[in-house]
Amino acid sequence: MENNFDINILIRENVKNMKPYSSARDEFEDFDTAEMIFLDANENPFENGVNRYPDPQQANVKEVLAKQKVVKSNQILLGNGSDEVLDLLFRAFCEPKIDNIITLPPTYGMYGVLANLNAVENREVLLTEDFQPEIEKIMEAVDANTKMIFLCSPNNPTGNSFSDESVAYLLQNFKGLVVIDEAYIDFSKKDSWINELDEYPNLIITQTLSKAYGLAGIRLGICYASSAVTTILNRIKPPYNVNELSQNRAVERLEDQQVISAEIESIIAQRELLIEALSEVSYVEKIYPTEANFVLVKVDDANKRYAELIAKGIVIRNRTTQALCENTLRLTVGTEEENKKLIVALKAIGT
Ligand SMILES: *Cc1c(COP(=O)(O)O)cnc(C)c1O
Repeated sequence: MENNFDINILIRENVKNMKPYSSARDEFEDFDTAEMIFLDANENPFENGVNRYPDPQQANVKEVLAKQKVVKSNQILLGNGSDEVLDLLFRAFCEPKIDNIITLPPTYGMYGVLANLNAVENREVLLTEDFQPEIEKIMEAVDANTKMIFLCSPNNPTGNSFSDESVAYLLQNFKGLVVIDEAYIDFSKKDSWINELDEYPNLIITQTLSKAYGLAGIRLGICYASSAVTTILNRIKPPYNVNELSQNRAVERLEDQQVISAEIESIIAQRELLIEALSEVSYVEKIYPTEANFVLVKVDDANKRYAELIAKGIVIRNRTTQALCENTLRLTVGTEEENKKLIVALKAIGT
């Protein structure tokens, strides 16, 4: 594929000329650090496991991820949650008040929040009624200052994946960056776009340990991209953006693939049971197809049903104000016990 992609045209001018913050320790990479005495960073010298600053490059986490995903370590950038990774993308590529991005509502709210925060215009191109990208309208919205298109697939809050043809078309024809947010990819039968990384220089994939990997509390987001892109992001990221506890916990968990797979299988099985039960709820008008760990449903009156569930001590997400989502509720798949209680409550409020 050739779409005349040139990363240098996309980078913000001030970022192009920036040097990353260099800690004293970065300069001693080639030494046998085990033998050295570190009196450079004003740390407390008494060992307690976390008295030293964490590895700014998170080499151990990246090594495990690189092996599992069959990419190079230099194609990975880690952040304090994907939210930080997404913010770095804005700050690296979007000139405030000049550049724009394209998002496809109904979708994840953070793209719009980050666009606002960074004073970048967010051009919204609605998905179709069955929640697929409208390729022609997207291409019409693109101009010379469009730096990124955000594709959330599987999409939050709708649950479906975008067609391979649509994604491939954008990768081949859009000269900016195509960011595919794969926060829910582990619940889908579809392959990750990571496998296409070497094919498309404008492809950026974000994933997270917050959902399928069960580590929302440690805040670890992952960006897979060409080394040209990760080099730029590395230049601007806060040096110690992923703390030592999170790095250690991530490695531990990533090496536990069997446990993770078993949990994902259980969540998917529970999702299917929940869908079955939802089809028997009188006021549920539509259950949208899902490849994620949640189900979007259309009901008779979302505000009413939401309030009734709260009164029964169950908190779900009311999406009725989102584009194309009138009277919809988003239900996260819980444990078997939680889902049973949810189903009992859903049926009870319908009678
Ligand atoms: C939950 C979610 C994330 C995860 O964000 P983190 O900051 O990594 O917890 C990213 N994208 C989407 C679409 C999500 O729903």
